[in-house]
Amino acid sequence: MLAALCALSISTNVIGQYPGWQQEVSYDMEVVVDTSMHQYSGSMTAVYTNNSPEHLTKVFWHLFFNAFQPGSMMDVRSRSISDPDRRVGSRIVKLPESEWGWQKVATVQVNGKPADFKEDGTILEVVLPKVLKPGKSVTFELNWQAQVPRQIRRSGWMNKEGVEYSMTQWYPKLCEFDHHGWHTNPYIGREFHGIWGDFDVKIHLPQGYGLGATGVQHSTQAALLPNGLPGTVHRYKATNVIDFAWAADPDFIEESIDVDGVTLRLIHQANPDIDSNWTALSEYAAKAMAYINKDVGQYAYPEYTVIQGGDGGMEYPMITLITGERSLRSLVGVTVHEMAHSWFQGMVATNESLHEWMDEGFTSWAESRCMAHLFADPMTPDENPHKWAYTSYIKQHLSGNEEPLITHADHYKTNRAYGVGAYSKGEVLVEQLGAVMGPKMRDEAMRTYFQNWAFKHPGPNDFKREMERASDLELDWYFQYMMHTTDAVDYAVESVVNEDGVVTIELGRRGNMPMPQDVLLTWEDGSHSRVHIPLVMMRGHRPLEEGEVLGMDWPWVDVNYTLEMSAKGRLTSVTLDADGLQADVNRENNTISFDLSRDQESRQAN
Ligand SMILES: [Zn+2]
Repeated sequence: MLAALCALSISTNVIGQYPGWQQEVSYDMEVVVDTSMHQYSGSMTAVYTNNSPEHLTKVFWHLFFNAFQPGSMMDVRSRSISDPDRRVGSRIVKLPESEWGWQKVATVQVNGKPADFKEDGTILEVVLPKVLKPGKSVTFELNWQAQVPRQIRRSGWMNKEGVEYSMTQWYPKLCEFDHHGWHTNPYIGREFHGIWGDFDVKIHLPQGYGLGATGVQHSTQAALLPNGLPGTVHRYKATNVIDFAWAADPDFIEESIDVDGVTLRLIHQANPDIDSNWTALSEYAAKAMAYINKDVGQYAYPEYTVIQGGDGGMEYPMITLITGERSLRSLVGVTVHEMAHSWFQGMVATNESLHEWMDEGFTSWAESRCMAHLFADPMTPDENPHKWAYTSYIKQHLSGNEEPLITHADHYKTNRAYGVGAYSKGEVLVEQLGAVMGPKMRDEAMRTYFQNWAFKHPGPNDFKREMERASDLELDWYFQYMMHTTDAVDYAVESVVNEDGVVTIELGRRGNMPMPQDVLLTWEDGSHSRVHIPLVMMRGHRPLEEGEVLGMDWPWVDVNYTLEMSAKGRLTSVTLDADGLQADVNRENNTISFDLSRDQESRQAN
C-alpha cells in the first residue's frame, strides 16, 4: 500500500500542469573548426531570462561531447544494458584518444565577472555570483575548446557514409528549468529537451564546405583561418528554437523546393548511386510537409533541411540528419518520421525525456498517417496504417517485459521496452483514443492540441485536458491505465443466445484495462446492427454513427455485461471492436460466429 501511494504521488507530480511561464535564452556563438585535428574553439554570449517565479542561484549546461569517452555514463550504460544499441555497443570504450569527444570550458563570466564553474561529465554547473531573480536576465560569456568525437551516435566526424561533420549536441547548451525544476540528465544517448531560444551562429571552416543548419543562412564571408589558410565564415540565424544543429561536407550538393511558403532543402553528397533517390525524395518530402501541415497544423519556420549525416535519422529544429544511402522507400520513411518530429519535438516540444511517448509516439502516429497517404495501396484501402504499432506493442506486452510509459526515457531497463513504449504504445495511445472519443473528433482534437500548445512545452495533463475539452468526456482513467500501468485491453464475446426474437449477448472484460465497447451484429441477410457501450466513468459517450444504438453504460467494476436486443432474424456473427481501434491483446475471443447450416440458439466462447 505504501509503495502504491508513493508511486501515485510521484506520478501526479510528473503529470504537472502548464504554469504559464518558460525560460528564454539568446545565444550568440562563434566557432573556428580545425579540420586536421577535428577540434574547434568556441566562444559565446548567452542572455538567459528567468521567467520563473523562483530565485536561481546556479545554472546548468549540457556538454554532450563528453559522453564520447571511455568510462562515460553513456559508455558504461551501453556496455551494461542487456540489449545494447548496435550503433553504440562497445565502440566508445574502443575509441583511441584522438577520436574521443570532449568539451573543455576555459572561462565563464557572468555579467562581465568571472564565475565559479564545475564540469561533471556531460553537465557543467555554473554558480551565479548574485541570485537571479524572477523576471531578470543574466549574460554569460563562455570560452571553450572541443574535440569532435569520431561519429558513433548522432554526432561526430566521418560517419559511415563519409559525411565529414554531423554537428549535433555540439555546443554548451543551457539545461531547461521549468515547473518541474532543473533537467540535468547526464547524457546517455537518448532524448533531449531545451529552452526556447534565438541563435546567431558563425562557423569558420576551410573553403569549399557545403553546409546545412538550423535556421536560415544569413551570410558567407571569406576569412583566413588561424593557420593562415583561406576559410569561410558561415553565419546562420534561428528564432524560437530549442536547439541548433549543423552538418558540413565538401561534397554536399543541394536541391530546394517550396512547400506552402516554406523552403525545403535537401542536401546530400554528390554520388551517382544516390542522386536520383534524393531527387525523388524531394517530391515526397514536399508532399509529406503539405500533408502534415493539413493533418496537424502549419509548420511555423521559414525553412526545413533534410541533410545526409548522422547514424540513422535524428530530428533537430528546422533540420534532420539522416543517413542517405538507402532505398527510396526507406529514405522517404525516415524523412517523414523526422519531419513529423518538427511538430511534436520541434514546435510543441514536450520534455521528451520525461514524456517520450508524447514525442516519439505522436510523431510515429503522424508518420503512419502520412506514409499511408504517400503510398496509398488501392489493393488494401482499409488497411490500418497503425497496424505495425499495434502488433509491436501487443507483442511486447505479451512478452512480460513491458515497462510503463511514465518511465524516464533514460531509465527503461531495456532499449526494447523504451522503443516499443515510446514509439509503438505512444502511437497506439493516440490512435486508440479513436475508440473512446471517435476518430474524427480525435483528429480535430490533435489539431487543436497543436494549435494551443505549440511553443509551450506541454505535459501529459495538458494533452489529456485538450482531449477532454474536445470530447466532453472524462479521460483520467484512460491516461492512468495507458501511462502508469502495463495493464492491457482484452474484451471477449462470452456467449450469444438468439431465441424467441431476442438476442442476449454476454460480454466479458478479461484484461485489466477498461474500455468502451463497440458491438457489431451481422445478420443472415448481410445487414448489421451496431451498439456502442460507454463506460460509466467517461460521463458521456462519443458521437454515434448513423443507425448506431447506445447501450447502457458499463461500470468498470463489473467484469461482465449483458446486452439484450430484438433479433432481426438469424445471426452470422457478433464481433467486438470490428474496426480494430483497440489494442486488444487477444482478438481470438472478440467474435462468435454461427454456422447458418445448423440450428442457432446459443454459442459460447472458448
Ligand atoms: Zn523519432
